[in-house]
Amino acid sequence: MKPSVTLVDSSQGPVFLPYLGAGRVLARLRALEKADRPLKLLKPAQTIPVFLVAPTTMDRICPPERGKCVEERALREIYRRNLGEDQALGKPLDFLRDVAPWDPEAEAARRRLEEVQLHDCGFEVMGVYLKAGHPLLGTKDPTIVLCPERIEDWVRGVGAPVDLATHTVYYHELGHALMDTGPHGPYGTIWGRVTEEALANWIAAQAFRDPAEKDWVTKLMAHQPLEYRAYRHLEGPLLSDWDFITPREELPRVRLAMWRDHKALGGDPAYFVQLADRLLERVAHLEVDRGKLTGKIG
Ligand SMILES: [Zn+2]
Repeated sequence: MKPSVTLVDSSQGPVFLPYLGAGRVLARLRALEKADRPLKLLKPAQTIPVFLVAPTTMDRICPPERGKCVEERALREIYRRNLGEDQALGKPLDFLRDVAPWDPEAEAARRRLEEVQLHDCGFEVMGVYLKAGHPLLGTKDPTIVLCPERIEDWVRGVGAPVDLATHTVYYHELGHALMDTGPHGPYGTIWGRVTEEALANWIAAQAFRDPAEKDWVTKLMAHQPLEYRAYRHLEGPLLSDWDFITPREELPRVRLAMWRDHKALGGDPAYFVQLADRLLERVAHLEVDRGKLTGKIG
């Protein structure tokens, strides 16, 4: 069977965007370029081809195992236990403690993350960034694949406009392209996955300035798995001296730069291990315990 693949050439700019609404995408990407500290998404948008595919094709390109995400119930248990230990010791609650921990804390974070499992949480892959393309698509270079049917399913549960959701997924994948800086890609680790997905969602959220659009993006992302929702907590926690002197609102951007350096250069991942641990803890407790999580993840 011939795969239902639509190749859209974006060599002259994101011309695939008649489907998405080219004007608004370009306007948003150009606004990001002009910001004080620009997020440079325009170039990847102009050079990376985008394929729109059917769900069956997406599953061949990106097998459903890759859609596995952090197991929420077990995660809450891990952090509840941790919280219990802290309370028993009379320490402040871990997820509220913005102090700089270092090595012993990094080891504790590492141990907790070792317990975190991925599972099938009913979340299907809507978009993917492929560093080296895919034979099915005839590409060997960076490629973005979107699955409009799945994006429509995601939108249906939230009531958001389809084109806005498609833009969101597209910017998220451009975010992965922006972070694809070298050979040290620890995406297979929990801490690597949490850091990368949280940052990709933060990048996507940055692309929207209009308050009504921002609101939809927040609502859409609230229906994503935990590691994606973690983007909302990237302005905390404080983990190093450098974090303490950085204005809160600048922290996600600083962390993005640090993550890109880490992927390019490798080195000790202790900072990101702790970041992922704290982000998961925050999502697990602050969101779930406040009853913010309702409905299915989709
Ligand atoms: Zn992603």
